[in-house]
Amino acid sequence: MERWVEETLHSGFRVRLKADRVLFDSETEHQQLIIFDNGDYGRVMMLDGVVQLATKDEFIYHEMMAHVPLFAHGRAKKVLIIGGGDGGVLRETLKHDNLESVTLCEIDHGVIDLCREHFPGVSAGAFDDPRTRVVIADGTKFVAETDERFDVILVDSTDPIGPGAVLFTRQFYADCRRSLPRDGLLVTQNGLPFLQAAELQQSIGYFREMFADSFAYLASTASYFGGPMSFGWATDDGDLRRLRQDAIERRYADSGAFPTRYWRPDVHVAAFALPNYIRDLMTG
Ligand code: SAM
Repeated sequence: MERWVEETLHSGFRVRLKADRVLFDSETEHQQLIIFDNGDYGRVMMLDGVVQLATKDEFIYHEMMAHVPLFAHGRAKKVLIIGGGDGGVLRETLKHDNLESVTLCEIDHGVIDLCREHFPGVSAGAFDDPRTRVVIADGTKFVAETDERFDVILVDSTDPIGPGAVLFTRQFYADCRRSLPRDGLLVTQNGLPFLQAAELQQSIGYFREMFADSFAYLASTASYFGGPMSFGWATDDGDLRRLRQDAIERRYADSGAFPTRYWRPDVHVAAFALPNYIRDLMTG
């Protein structure tokens, strides 16, 4: 009997993916998790009915979540990843040799365990990197209580449903702000502006209360269905997102120009070229 798995994130829009082979389908401590193989998208993981990861296109989101902020910042030593239990953002972040430490704060140990087992190529050893520190906790609690400072904070969260909802709150962003030095940078997974405009508008509105520069950048991700994916951007240094292509090329060359499949200096610059329907969400 054929099995189709439906994404249930949006109220009026559904997508179904054929599950050729189901490898896991159960509750973890925090979420409903299913992992299955699909002919078009490769191996897929969904949490609470939402696609998180597909091996055929994961490089797009993970490269753009890591390399745009890290090459824009240029001097990061300490990075905090909130969420990211599949290890993809961690893998890409660790390609920056100048980093001293990457802390990954993930609420659900089951996600890390199952992704290490069923998606070994996504983390690709990143969890075992000596610079990696894994904390199993709610990201809001971690940033509320830490007295550490991080040059870059990457919020690789689920959507604002279930345990991820708290990662889209004013208090969480205020605590991230407190955990960043003046020249720090916060980047957030902020959904599909075409279908989740209110989510991006709300985050940008909160950023504008706390940071001098709030914006977004985009990537076209095949497995987050419904238009381009947005990444929220918040910093006091307005120059970070305006870096010229030649400067990004120099930083990329200095980093050893590791191979990529989506991010590249010209794509980095173009990612900030927002169409008006998205730019209008920034004005509040
Ligand atoms: N790239 C995906 C996307 O764009 O939707 C997200 C991938 S990653 C699997 C999302 C992670 O956020 C999950 O592992 C989930 O357990 C974690 N998460 C959700 N709420 C959290 C919270 N409050 N604190 C820390 N991690 C959380």
